[in-house]
Parts: sequence; structure tokens; C-alpha cells
Amino acid sequence: MSHVPFQERGDVAVEADYVVVGTGAGGAAAAVTLARSGASVLMVEAGPWRDPHDYAWSTYGAMRDMMDDWGATITMGRALWPVVQARLVGGTTVINSAICVRTPEDIFGEWARNHGITGIQERVWRFQDQLEDELCVAETAPAAMGRSNELALKADAAGNFGGHVIKRYAKGCIGSGQCLQGCREMKKQSTNLNYVPEVLRRGGQILSSAPAERILFEGRRAVGVTGRFVHPQTRAKGAKFTARARKGVFVAASVTHSPVLLRRSGLTHAAVGAGFRAHPGTGVFGIYDEPVDQNFGVTQGWASTKYREDAGLKLETLSIPMEMAISRLAGGGRAFMERVVGYRHIAMWVHALRARSVGTVGAGWGGKPVIRYSFDEYDMARFRAGLVKMSEMHFAAGARVVIPGVHGIPYSLGPTELDVLANAPLDPKRYVAILSHLFGGCMMGTDPTRSVCDTRGKVHGHEGLYVADASLMPDNIGVNPQHTIMALAMIVAEGALGIA
Ligand SMILES: Cc1cc2nc3c(=O)[nH]c(=O)nc-3n(C[C@H](O)[C@H](O)[C@H](O)COP(=O)(O)OP(=O)(O)OC[C@H]3O[C@@H](n4cnc5c(N)ncnc54)[C@H](O)[C@@H]3O)c2cc1C
Ligand code: SF4
Repeated sequence: MSHVPFQERGDVAVEADYVVVGTGAGGAAAAVTLARSGASVLMVEAGPWRDPHDYAWSTYGAMRDMMDDWGATITMGRALWPVVQARLVGGTTVINSAICVRTPEDIFGEWARNHGITGIQERVWRFQDQLEDELCVAETAPAAMGRSNELALKADAAGNFGGHVIKRYAKGCIGSGQCLQGCREMKKQSTNLNYVPEVLRRGGQILSSAPAERILFEGRRAVGVTGRFVHPQTRAKGAKFTARARKGVFVAASVTHSPVLLRRSGLTHAAVGAGFRAHPGTGVFGIYDEPVDQNFGVTQGWASTKYREDAGLKLETLSIPMEMAISRLAGGGRAFMERVVGYRHIAMWVHALRARSVGTVGAGWGGKPVIRYSFDEYDMARFRAGLVKMSEMHFAAGARVVIPGVHGIPYSLGPTELDVLANAPLDPKRYVAILSHLFGGCMMGTDPTRSVCDTRGKVHGHEGLYVADASLMPDNIGVNPQHTIMALAMIVAEGALGIA
């Protein structure tokens, strides 16, 4: 059987040339590359298989059915910021906004200088050509934009914020604004709709609801993984499974889980779990006189990379469902309800910071990841500056007031009050933030004392063991990472196949 879902009892033993742990951006890209070479591929995925018509409508349902740990993973540091990752077939590509950005040229120079990673620039871009073709990358059509994105274009025209209409992995997006709960329309090209089924069509197999707990070794060679099925609703443990690999094991369980899996499998090297980086982001609400209706239109349709190199900021629109938006509204009773009714007039725009702060990923109780991460003052100052920039944009588009979401300053600010925000206290606890672009934990590099993998993703000191997800990346890149992760995973797969 090519798909083995949750099994309550009876041990499951399966075998293939390659076992790939995780089916998100990295895992699916590696798996399809291996399968296209003629190798047999067995995917092992912690989360369940969900068909698009089963995706939840609400944020609550998405957290329950699609997120790792109900979205309750947080940073352990000066602020407890959520770290969002998905847990289902297709990984975080199912709940992301499908924004596609090529790896910026300067990143290759930094990787070469700081980590000895050379000779991949042309190959990354070549794979990105292929991905853009296969995953139908296109600019959002005007008819799908929606008012929030149109207002951002208006602000840009007025204030020169250096933006553009976003290119996305989406075929015929109709702007239903549901990306974060999964695209029921099947327009978004998440990997559960393309590369994972292609692997199965090519004779591959998948175990779903099957979190790998340990990598199996014979000497220094990885020969498979083992774990126990987990029921997708009750979370009860089921049967044991053993997935044996004749040629190699690919770990692509994400930045939060790949280091934990390596550590639980006996890799004690200090570099495992080190170098955690992120693009923490936050949003500013603009309140407009006209209805914005952010629940109509593409979730993210406008972005700017103009401030990436100096301030480290990427600016974007981001429409969120009503239940998420109202969690940011203050007050009680009638005043609160009036703000809830005002949802129609809110546009939320966000920034993501290429932070220099570095943290760690460790293994906690029951194999849960523990992320130790705090912003330093330099990052906090840039983070705050990003809020000011987003507020300026809202005012350029005609917002009446903005709600920056910073505790300890007035709830809403008018166009002449932005100095209050520019001088807000820098304590991270006062700021709402979320980490969705994650990097590191199994970094690649030439120096085995500082990195887990070599520059082609093979784990130092082991045979047949590769990492093929965002945890490979030795630095954050200042743009949305999926395109880079997928191209790197394909390069890792080719390396395992002996293609230089
Ligand atoms: C809300 C949100 C929006 C985003 N929007 C964008 C965007 O528009 N563009 C962009 O470029 N990036 C975006 N990102 C980031 C992007 O989605 C991630 O960087 C990318 O998916 C990471 O790829 P990955 O392969 O490392 O991990 P994932 O895609 O998270 O895949 C990891 C997989 O491994 C599985 N897994 C975990 N542990 C185990 C285990 N022990 N055994 C088996 N399987 C396991 C998980 O269930 C998951 O399926 C967004 C992220 C979020 C959270
Ligand atoms: S906006 Fe709607 S149709 Fe477009 S990709 Fe997102 S969920 Fe799918």
C-alpha cells in the first residue's frame, strides 16, 4: 500500500532506497528529486494526510488540525513569542502564503565567506527556475488582490516604499483569503498537492501520522528511522513502525524538529541545535474610513524588499481572519464590541526582520522542541523602526489611526503621534511578534566543529545521513525562505545520488 495512515496496533515494517522524514518544503523537494532518478522513496510524516475539502475554516480549526502542538510552541527568552510550524502532509507549505522569492545574490557571498559554502549559486537559481515552472509561480492577478493590497499599492505610489505585487506558488488564485487555514480551492501549490503525490505515482510510499523518534544506525551509517503512529485527533499512540533505508535517510522535519531528532538519535555534537535564527515579524493595524474587508482578496499581495539591506526589514501586507484580528483589539463590553464590528475597516500590514539574534533548539519533555531565543537591543530598535515604517505606509494610504500593538504606549496613534512609537520602550515583552521564517539548528558548513552538515547537506562523520530543510541554512536571508529551502533540498538529494 502506498499510503499507510495511523495504525493502532500491529507493528509496521517498510523499506525503500531512501527514507525522507518530513514532507514540507524541504522534504517533498528532496523526495521528488530522489524519485525522479528512479530510486524508491518512503516518506515518513508526523502529521496526518488532510484533503483540501477537510481543511478547517477557522483559525481554531487550523491550529487543532494543522499546526504543530496546536501552535503553542513559543520562544523561551525575554519574550514568549509564538513559533509557528505546521504538522501534516505538506508541512508548512499547506498553511503558508505561498510567497516565492529567489535567493538574493548577496546570500551566496555571505555563505561562502562565513561557512565555506561555494559553487551552488547557479544550481540554486536553476532549481528555482524549475520550481517556478512546476509550481505555477505567478504575480497575483488584479481581480484577486482585495482592498488591503490595493491600499498598499496606493501607499507605495504616494510614499515610494519600493514595493511590488507578490509572486506566489498559486495557480489561478481567486483571493479567498484562506491561505493560513489551507487553500480549499486547491489553487495554492502546497507540496501535498504536487510533489508528494508525484512520489507516490512513481512507486513511493508514505507513512502519515508517523513521527520519527529515532534514526537507526549500523555503525556510522544511517539505515532507517523508527517511531510510533499518533492518532490525528486523540493524539493517542498507536503501533510501532520501522522504516528501513537501503541507501540513505533524509531528515527534513523542520528547524524545530530536525535537531531534536538528531539529538534523540545520539548525535551529541554541540552544533546540533545551534545557530537558530528567524525573521520575527509583527503587524500594524491601519483603521480606514472605507471598508477594507481583509477577508476578501489574496492573503498577501504586496511586498517591499527596499529596506532589506540597511534596516533588515521586509514589508508585506497580511490579511488575517476576524478571530485572529480581534485577539489584538483592546477593551471590554460595548467599546470592545464596537472595535470588533470595526474589523471591516482594518488593514494589517507586517514587517519581518532579518534579526541578528541567535538562539538554540533543544530537546524537551517527550521530544518537544525547546527554543531559547531573545532579541538584543539592536534588533529591538530595528523591530520598532519597522512598526514606524508600516504606520507611515498606512497614513500614506489614508488610514485614520494605526494600532501598533505595543504595550505601554497609547492603543491607537494618529498621523502626528508617530514619535511616541519611535520612542517606545525596547523591552521585547511589550511587543506582539511571531516567528514563522526559521533557520539553522543543523547548519551546513566546512568546519565540522561549527556545523552539523557539510556544504551538500551530508551529516559530518556519518554515512547515508542527510539534512534537507530550513535547518541547514547557516543564516537568515531576509526574504521568504521556501524557494531557497526547496532548491537546497534538491541539491542535497542530487548529492546523495552522486550528481555533483
Ligand atoms: C504562517 C506562515 C506563513 C508563511 N509564509 C511563507 C511564504 O509565503 N513564503 C515562504 O517562502 N515561506 C513562508 N513561510 C515559511 C515556510 O513555509 C517555511 O520556511 C518552510 O515551509 C520550511 O520548510 P521545512 O521543510 O524546513 O519545514 P516544514 O515545511 O515545516 O516541513 C516539516 C515537516 O516535517 C514534519 N515533521 C516534524 N517532525 C517530524 C518527525 N519527528 N517525524 C516525521 N515528520 C516530522 C512536519 O509535520 C512537517 O510536515 C511561512 C511560514 C508560516 C508559519
Ligand atoms: S487566497 Fe484563497 S484561493 Fe488564493 S491561494 Fe490563498 S487560499 Fe487559495
